[in-house]
Amino acid sequence: MNAALTLIAQARRILVVTHIEPDGDAIGSLLGLGWALMSLGKDATLACADGVPAPFRFLPGSENVVTRPPSPHGGAGMDPLTRGLTYPGQAGGRYDLIIGLDASDPSRYGDAYHPERYPGIPLLVIDHHVTNEGFGTVNLIDPQAAATAEMLVALISQLGVALDARIATCLLAGLLADTLGFRTANTRPETLGVAMRLMEAGANLTELTHQLFETKSLASLRVLGRALAEMQLDSRILWTEISQATLRECGATSGDASGIVNVLSSVRDAEVAVVFRERPDGSVDVGMRSAPGVNLAPIALRLGGGGHPQAAGCLLPGPLPAARERVLEELRRSLESPAEEA
Ligand code: AMP
Ligand code: MN
Ligand code: MN
Repeated sequence: MNAALTLIAQARRILVVTHIEPDGDAIGSLLGLGWALMSLGKDATLACADGVPAPFRFLPGSENVVTRPPSPHGGAGMDPLTRGLTYPGQAGGRYDLIIGLDASDPSRYGDAYHPERYPGIPLLVIDHHVTNEGFGTVNLIDPQAAATAEMLVALISQLGVALDARIATCLLAGLLADTLGFRTANTRPETLGVAMRLMEAGANLTELTHQLFETKSLASLRVLGRALAEMQLDSRILWTEISQATLRECGATSGDASGIVNVLSSVRDAEVAVVFRERPDGSVDVGMRSAPGVNLAPIALRLGGGGHPQAAGCLLPGPLPAARERVLEELRRSLESPAEEA
């Protein structure tokens, strides 16, 4: 923590990046830390390679997020997603510090951060994945934390920044997203203590819950319908898959299919729920959830991904059936001999 505070104190121009296919913790943490750095007078550039998905665009500051931050070698300044807008930060690609959020390995930053673009610039990794081995110059990693946003509340207060309504709103969104509204096993008394501080600072729990869990696109319900119609129970593994063709037919984006694995995991007879999502390039995004007692983190690591004991994922080469068989085989083996995971 002290090394992290020193790095931030000494930096003026900071690039903050979060992971691809961002969830609420990825975006909430990015924006919450962004507001805190700006209130310290830092020049902060906020980047997510996939941009801010529609469900999180209500969060304050989301319009400032860029997909391709400028690098010292130039070639940037225009954002392909916002077309024509110049980047907010004034750094022109020359950063003193890069902060990476909510990702257990650097490939998860996608095109928002390639180390070779920033030689000699320190990387501060802030994350809560148990599978994070610490690839930064300084690593702040707490697998006990329910969300990266939870860790940031402590960091921000140690930086001497008072929580305001904007910071608190973004961070409570992150906390809610990763705990599904304080319902998952990573919710500890400390988590609720942090949430209380965020509410006291002006975050509206009811409004955030409504935005994050009760506001959906029509396309997402169409995809859910298709995914549920095609799901299969294989011993204690409940799985379904969503192809590019299905997404097209539903008029949906990959983000519209992101919460489906949580629906599958509510089935009593399923110890593990898996959703296979085909990406435009043919690779397959695998999202997994497990009942307490099944530790997915080592399984996801063996598949080249990462995550938490009860929520993990990986990215595999296609085609869909090949990726599916590889994951199901790995899961069946692990369920048969759980002792190996101890
Ligand atoms: P998801 O099912 O996409 O919500 O992901 C569940 C958890 O697994 C999250 O904590 C993700 O950060 C992690 N995860 C998902 N995909 C990957 C991946 N390709 N590599 C590493 N971690 C992943
Ligand atoms: Mn995340
Ligand atoms: Mn997270």
